[in-house]
Amino acid sequence: MLASTISDEDAGPYSPTGASGLAITPADMECRALTRIARFHFGVATAMVTLLDARGQRIHAIDGSLPHMLPPDLSGPPFQASAKPDRTVVVPDTWDDERFGGKARDLAVRWPRFYASCGVTGADGRHLGALCLLDDLPHSLDDAQREFLRELAGMVAHGLERAHAIATLRNRVEELETGGELMTLALAGSGTGIWDRNVVTGTIDYSPAWKAMLGYEGHELSNRMEDAYLRLHPDDRAYVHATMQSHFENRTDSYVVEHRIRCKDGSYKWICSRGKVVERGSNGHAMRMVGTSTDITALREMAAQLQQSIEMVTNLTDEVPGMVFQYRRMPDGLAFFPYTSEGIRDIYELTPQQAATGAATIDALIDARDLAAYRESLEESAASLLPWHLEYRVRLPRQGLRWRQGDARPRRLDDGSTLWHGFITDVTDRKHIEAELQELATIDFLTQLPNRRHFMMQSEAELARIRRAGGRVAAVLMFDLDHFKALNDRWGHAAGDSALSHFAALLRAEVRAGDIVGRLGGEEFAMVLPNTDTDAAIALAGRVQHRTARTPLQHGDEHLALTVSIGIDIMRVTDIGAYQSLSRGDKALYRAKERGRNRIEIYGDQCGSISIKQS
Ligand code: GH3
Ligand code: MG
Ligand code: MG
Repeated sequence: MLASTISDEDAGPYSPTGASGLAITPADMECRALTRIARFHFGVATAMVTLLDARGQRIHAIDGSLPHMLPPDLSGPPFQASAKPDRTVVVPDTWDDERFGGKARDLAVRWPRFYASCGVTGADGRHLGALCLLDDLPHSLDDAQREFLRELAGMVAHGLERAHAIATLRNRVEELETGGELMTLALAGSGTGIWDRNVVTGTIDYSPAWKAMLGYEGHELSNRMEDAYLRLHPDDRAYVHATMQSHFENRTDSYVVEHRIRCKDGSYKWICSRGKVVERGSNGHAMRMVGTSTDITALREMAAQLQQSIEMVTNLTDEVPGMVFQYRRMPDGLAFFPYTSEGIRDIYELTPQQAATGAATIDALIDARDLAAYRESLEESAASLLPWHLEYRVRLPRQGLRWRQGDARPRRLDDGSTLWHGFITDVTDRKHIEAELQELATIDFLTQLPNRRHFMMQSEAELARIRRAGGRVAAVLMFDLDHFKALNDRWGHAAGDSALSHFAALLRAEVRAGDIVGRLGGEEFAMVLPNTDTDAAIALAGRVQHRTARTPLQHGDEHLALTVSIGIDIMRVTDIGAYQSLSRGDKALYRAKERGRNRIEIYGDQCGSISIKQS
């Protein structure tokens, strides 16, 4: 017995049937019509199309009464081993059919008595389901009826195929529509419009976004190519035309050009147009081309501003006296100057490119005396990350020996390399002035001998050496010209000055490299002779006296004789300072004066002294 009747009007989806729990899919119109034809033609209570897939069997379309339970699909697996397009199964009375088992009789109220079905087979031979006839009374089908059932099942199969194809197409269309909408949105959002040019008719169509980009409404703007060219900036027309032409002639793979285009309000925008010929005639002539245009005005303005900033920085660094630089040292020791300002042409007589390739070109210009200090100072700065500062000499092909001062701040980069930013200036003039000042501060102008201060510093250094190296000796000699006041008084102060520089020259003539000579003041001079004992000092003092005696001062026509008194002692390791030995020498000198001048006295213990009267 079949349950409720499905009316013609009830074309909508069924709710799941209580007993079987089967979901009923919406029937498509064609299948529904076929089930109706089948039910009327065969005069049965129910005609339905069932589908079979991995999830089981379900009713796809039905006309007539809904069965209490869905009978098994005897036209498909597992009841039929292989799919046959014309397969029909007729069970005149389910009570007599073992496939419905004993259950049919026991549960007569559950199963329909008559069952007939024909398999619905897809184009690929797959069993899709069945067209099924059910009735409460037993029936039989003759050959003609079986044949008709097969024909109807074939039509159901075609209908299902078509429905499937339509559904697939609909999905594809939906996908395309969604994709298209997204593309339109993306294009509009990025300030991009689309154009489609028909080369044959000389027309061009623009998307609304394209028109909006130039401030036009959808209905504005003509689609004639001549007008399109008129909107181009006059300076860009020839270039755009030539680029387009070369793509038309297949010389380029695609068309890409940046140009200005006039907006509705008369202003110009920079756009980037990209396009491609999508149709060519049999002779290869371009017939249709599509493309996009993107507003790049803001981008160009930004690029221009950036360029301005770069130029400003470059100008600044190039105008600064000296050389602004970046110096980078990789962890493996490789070093180079990624950036140097134009000043490098003066500072190192190189080009920025030469310095960028490697630091060796610059190392080669550092004076040999300063190269080690140069390298060590950079090494230290890299290790401590403290600022680098160095004054060093360079030898340049054109300028020769020059002084440079470098200052830079180091920074450690993620890759372990060190990057300095700094500048190098020419300090040659300053160094020369410093040297002059140094000389002024240390040299006595009249005699060109070290002054007292400088002489004392050098003497202290010698005393330190004696203390360090045991057994080393140094003699100290003190000189004072005799009766110098009288010479001044008689021949004048200028003659006195001449006598002082004359005597200084005599002293210089007697000393070796490494000996220390100085003018202590007035007509007093002194010497410290390293590695010299008392005897050697006495000998030297004697030579000075002889030379002085032999070499009178030429003053006009006069020969002015000079004599000198000399006091001698040696430096001692126990001396607190150099002044002690000088003071002892002075005592000996005083004795020489006392004992008649033009003498050599040696400082003796208990203030005694040996005196040698020179003839
Ligand atoms: P003594 O033999 O005892 O050394 O007698 P002295 O005259 O040489 O010694 P004194 O110290 O009395 O005189 C030194 C003179 O040297 C006094 C000073 O006018 C002179 N004098 C000092 N410095 C200079 C100088 O730079 N140029 C000249 N022309 N004379 C100087
Ligand atoms: Mg004196
Ligand atoms: Mg004197």
